[in-house]
Amino acid sequence: MDRKIGFFKSIQFKLIIAYVLLILVAVQVIGVYFTRQLEQDLLTNHFELLDERSNLLQSQLPDVMGASPDDRDELTAEINSLLQDFFRIDNATAQVIDKNEVILGTSNIGDRNQIGMRNNEIRVKRALLGSTEEGEVQNPQNKERFRVMAVPITENDGTVLGVIYIQASLEEIYDQIQEINSILFKGTSIALVISAILVILLARTIIVPILEMRKQALRMSHGDFSRQVKVYSTDEIGQLATSFNQLTMKLHDATLTRDREQKRLSSVLSNMTDGVIATDQNGRVILLNKRAEELLGVSSKQVMRQPLTDVLHVTETFGVYDLYDHSESVLLDFSNEDGQYLLEANFSVIQEDEGPINGLITVLHDVTEKEKIEQERREFVANVSHELRTPLTTMKSYLEALEDGVMQDVDMGPRFLKVTQNETERMIRLVNDLLQLSKIDSDDYQFVLQWIDFGQFLHEVLDRFEIIAQEKNINLHRHISKKPSYVEMDQDKLIQVLDNIISNALKYSAEGANITTTLLHQGNHVRVSIADQGMGIPRESQLRIFDRFYRVDRARARSVGGTGLGLAIAKELVQAHGGDIWVHSEYGEGTTIYFTLPYSAFKEGDV
Ligand code: ADP
Repeated sequence: MDRKIGFFKSIQFKLIIAYVLLILVAVQVIGVYFTRQLEQDLLTNHFELLDERSNLLQSQLPDVMGASPDDRDELTAEINSLLQDFFRIDNATAQVIDKNEVILGTSNIGDRNQIGMRNNEIRVKRALLGSTEEGEVQNPQNKERFRVMAVPITENDGTVLGVIYIQASLEEIYDQIQEINSILFKGTSIALVISAILVILLARTIIVPILEMRKQALRMSHGDFSRQVKVYSTDEIGQLATSFNQLTMKLHDATLTRDREQKRLSSVLSNMTDGVIATDQNGRVILLNKRAEELLGVSSKQVMRQPLTDVLHVTETFGVYDLYDHSESVLLDFSNEDGQYLLEANFSVIQEDEGPINGLITVLHDVTEKEKIEQERREFVANVSHELRTPLTTMKSYLEALEDGVMQDVDMGPRFLKVTQNETERMIRLVNDLLQLSKIDSDDYQFVLQWIDFGQFLHEVLDRFEIIAQEKNINLHRHISKKPSYVEMDQDKLIQVLDNIISNALKYSAEGANITTTLLHQGNHVRVSIADQGMGIPRESQLRIFDRFYRVDRARARSVGGTGLGLAIAKELVQAHGGDIWVHSEYGEGTTIYFTLPYSAFKEGDV
């Protein structure tokens, strides 16, 4: 926030006020003291001068006034000359008054016309009675201030001969003081202006760095650490600027580290295969990574600040605080009609040492697949046990019968032995098939790949079935394209695929039926189909015949020696060769198994 500070609130103004007040107080104190003293000194000097002159006159006049009392004019002339000699003071007049209050002489030549007139001043009257009168009067018209003195002129015996009346203007002294005051005022004003200017300049040296630091602090708050403030001096302000720059650098480093950490954390979070949800201490969502959004099928915006229990749909089972000390994982079932969907949630609290709990971290894994595999594994074990138990129980009962005497029966004995032999063979087949499947399931299952012309290969496989087919009076028809179609394959594995499919066709066909094998080309694949006219497969079972241990009619399939693993193995092997396998069947009319394999018209390397 860059707010401009008003001048009257600025440090500059405060400093100016402080200095001006300081100077004013100082000058005022000095001024008052100085002018008082000066005024006093000037007045005292003036009064002393007047006193001295009046004393002089006082000592001279009795002789003059006592010697020639008869001739008034002569007396006046004598007094006037005496006054001229002893009382020549600017702006001061001295009158000599006889005991009848008549003015005998005056020091001021301009006032000579007053000679012979009476002076009715009260102070004169009092002085005639023998006391010295002093005082200050003011002219009511022009406000001029005077010092007046009435000093009695006495003879040695104390007889009052007259009065010396002195009137001295004080205006000059007051004017002088006034002038000094005005000089003082002007001086003060100039001093104030100069000091204000000096303060402004001085304040700038303090304020400019402070303003720069303030600007820099504002920039820092917007994330700009690129600049440093200028260090103008080595004083405290300079040290502050240096410390400020160090602080900027440290803060910059800290911000970079924090940003880096944040980026690292967010990239870890977004690339995690687990979903992560963080909540505040009240259990409301404050962070959700991408994987958690995917797993829960929600967007960050939707669930932000929502209670975690709502987001995980566990409101009925848990309150938020129950999850704080829930060390076991919780299985969240989001399954619906579209399929199974299971998530596993683990909780851990965010807590600094022994401090209060700040929130909760929830880690989500998709365990649908794991659960499915687990389920399949359980089913598989159950199936295997079941498949083995049946022949074993059969064998056990037959062997017991043989032991109990059937062995001696020429007719039954060999038949019973044959049954146990058949069951043993079935078990061997089953175990072989299981081994085969477990090999395919293991990651390091190796194929021995060769480029082989598939048409020729198919003929060879079918040739091997001719005798068995003839025994069952079944015709094997071949519609095999003559176009060379090289398939990169593991020959043994594909023999196994074809064995399983063709032997099924033979197994589930009645005598005298036809089995047609077709090979044609479809894009970059060869498509093989083996069609029989057997019993067919009901529609609802068609998708499942490639599942392990699945048999349409268990009893019947077992009677023809099936393990329920043949097509499952065929599917795995075809898919491992990059092909696909499927079935088309009409129940009661026949079954066609199709499979495709990628091919090339040339043997690799011949081109
Ligand atoms: P099996 O060893 O039992 O034949 P398969 O995996 O080969 O096991 O086949 C699974 C089931 O599919 C068989 O039990 C059977 O019910 C059905 N099936 C497979 N091929 C045919 C076919 N050609 N005609 C009718 N049913 C078939």
